[in-house]
Amino acid sequence: MLLIDCPCCGLRPETEFRCGGQAHVARPATPADVTDKDWSEYLFVRENPRGVHAERWIHQHGCGRWFNALRDTVSDRFVETYPMGGDPKSTTTETRL
Ligand SMILES: [Zn+2]
Repeated sequence: MLLIDCPCCGLRPETEFRCGGQAHVARPATPADVTDKDWSEYLFVRENPRGVHAERWIHQHGCGRWFNALRDTVSDRFVETYPMGGDPKSTTTETRL
């Protein structure tokens, strides 16, 4: 079973977690000033890379907190987890194709 390192609880089974999609998606500073196309891209368009990718995860059946993770989408290996609002210690360029 895959274990995920929750920043609060430590290593826990993957069945306790849920992925919340791409991390670090910046909301436009003034939403009223963006075009409908730009707004829809902010809401719906996400990267789908092959390799290491930053994602938001929630420990749904544990502490209930959101955190960020660097996960390799090819091997499903978690490179690192880190608190919301933080930056990863690792670089994300190692396997991105
Ligand atoms: Zn937790």
